[in-house]
Amino acid sequence: MSLDYNSLLLAVGFSAACLSLTLFGIWLTARSEKFLLTWAASVLLVVGDVFTYKAYIDKPGPMLGVASFTLLLLGFSTMLGAAHQFTTGRSPLPRIALGANISLAVALPPIVLGYDGLGFMLENFFAALLLFATALEYWKGRAESPVPIIGVTALYSITAVSFVLCAMVPASDGKLVLGHAPSNWAEDLSLVIVIACMTGIGSLSLALNQGRLAQYHRRNALTDPLTGLLNRRALFDMHGDAPVGAFTAVVVFDLDGFKAINDEFGHAAGDEVLRVFARDLAGNLRPADVAARMGGEEFALVLKRTLPETVEATAESIRAAFAARRIETEAGSLICTVSAGFAFGTKEGLSFDKVLSAADKALYAAKRGGRNRVTASALRRVG
Ligand code: GH3
Ligand code: MG
Ligand code: MG
Repeated sequence: MSLDYNSLLLAVGFSAACLSLTLFGIWLTARSEKFLLTWAASVLLVVGDVFTYKAYIDKPGPMLGVASFTLLLLGFSTMLGAAHQFTTGRSPLPRIALGANISLAVALPPIVLGYDGLGFMLENFFAALLLFATALEYWKGRAESPVPIIGVTALYSITAVSFVLCAMVPASDGKLVLGHAPSNWAEDLSLVIVIACMTGIGSLSLALNQGRLAQYHRRNALTDPLTGLLNRRALFDMHGDAPVGAFTAVVVFDLDGFKAINDEFGHAAGDEVLRVFARDLAGNLRPADVAARMGGEEFALVLKRTLPETVEATAESIRAAFAARRIETEAGSLICTVSAGFAFGTKEGLSFDKVLSAADKALYAAKRGGRNRVTASALRRVG
């Protein structure tokens, strides 16, 4: 079967143009995802290369050769930059500058000096290198979403291998001067691979980005924006269904006289107090413990594999440290206290709701008892 190289090349050009437009369109709706713009630009450069290279095939010459090499190698360097930006969130520029400078410095002189055969070998070799580097960028970020990332890595690597073949086939002839665009089975195969892999890479990468956005929205929905702690919903998502055992405790904290602080120092100062308390709370946790803001000036801790003495000591040290703290706000410095109540699950397992409301009752006992204190639930632990 003989492939019509020119039609394949046009197919690459038009599908890449569509991919670039799609990426640009998606970036317009999600501008914080800057890597989409970098990626759209990289694909656009490749589109530019395809049409310049088409002109080179029709009329070979150093000017078109230089333009085509520059567009392809700059395009692939930008793709490497986009991959780095996607996995690390950092600027793509250092990768783009490094990739483009080295590859162009080596590949351009031969084509300018008339050694077009050598030029194409070097161009293909550096194109392969840049694609392998792009694959490596994704590979390093595979923990985020292993299956699609390994897929993207594989597709970039396959494309890179096709460029290695394009560099090796003419190298085996040893012709440094061609006088025309290279034409061999490796070039044909490479175009077919580029078309197939580009489609795969496009859809997998967009799926990856969607997954990341969904994860971001999910995290937002479960995080309290003021304090950065989990919110009530997150706490119920984590603990709401499972029965609470005898060695798991829930501690509920409620700041004392908080309304008066808001009234006297203003809402912004109140917010600062909430942030300070949240930091204290989060700073006192073991890795398995969970802290959440339940709403307003009410917080909860879930402590696992623990004993009443430990829970009481933990809550007491949080209370004492907070009471001793002078909190600096824009409206002046102030002191605030907190009351806490705690309760345990049972050997048979108690619903999270019940343990929480037992802790709440203990909290109100602490409030009635004069505030700035920790009270245990009257419900005794069984066993
Ligand atoms: P007690 O000692 O009995 O707990 O009294 P309190 O004043 O702390 O309790 P109360 O329930 O009367 O007041 C809670 C206040 O918390 C009222 C509300 O305006 C304030 N509040 C709730 N959420 C926020 C918030 O996000 N920021 C600020 N600054 N204030 C908040
Ligand atoms: Mg309250
Ligand atoms: Mg209160």
